[in-house]
Amino acid sequence: MLKGEVIIDEALCQGCGYCVKFCPRGCIAITGDKFTPQGYLLPTVIKPDECKPCGVCAMLCPAAAIEVYKFETEVVA
Ligand code: SF4
Ligand code: SF4
Repeated sequence: MLKGEVIIDEALCQGCGYCVKFCPRGCIAITGDKFTPQGYLLPTVIKPDECKPCGVCAMLCPAAAIEVYKFETEVVA
């Protein structure tokens, strides 16, 4: 099964919320309790298991703050 890992660079994020708004699977949220070093609200990957790594969040991020990694998981039983 194809899974994704999303890494958000706190130092680059500008808190615009595009990644939250446009993730088709609702994987990312701004929970309101985390901030970037610049004082913006920082998004969090709240449903990492739901990420089917489409890359939309990374493509739309105006700050190039997101990297998406794809990997295969193996079902053994
Ligand atoms: S890669 Fe796609 S599914 Fe995964 S968090 Fe980004 S927008 Fe959502
Ligand atoms: S789209 Fe990029 S800059 Fe905007 S909140 Fe998400 S990570 Fe931060």
